[in-house]
Amino acid sequence: MTVFDVRCDRCGTELTRPTEAVRFLFHPGDFSLKDDSGLLCRSCWRAAMGWFGVDQPKDQCARCGIAVESSRSVHVLRSGEAAGWQLCPEHAVAFLNQLRTVDPKLSVETLSLAGDWRQMQS
Ligand SMILES: [Zn+2]
Ligand SMILES: [Zn+2]
Repeated sequence: MTVFDVRCDRCGTELTRPTEAVRFLFHPGDFSLKDDSGLLCRSCWRAAMGWFGVDQPKDQCARCGIAVESSRSVHVLRSGEAAGWQLCPEHAVAFLNQLRTVDPKLSVETLSLAGDWRQMQS
């Protein structure tokens, strides 16, 4: 009855079949604060994976490799998977700002690690 009618959070491509969509979630080191609305088309997910790298080092930024504390980093996981990537604030901002639903855009200063980055008042 309902049409699968969603768009990629990065490139805006219409996703007409569930198999074209990759769901992911992110949280600031506390799973209860997760935002699980992330949705990318397969090619954007591949691009994100290329950006993160295949390794999922613990307590290190997946992008630049600096040490981060679990509660001071953004964790990105593909939905349904237990392991994901951690990003330092700078790279978390870089990643999240690619998403069309993140508005207003974030800066390292405004990045909230309390999980409310989509509800921030300007
Ligand atoms: Zn896309
Ligand atoms: Zn980094």
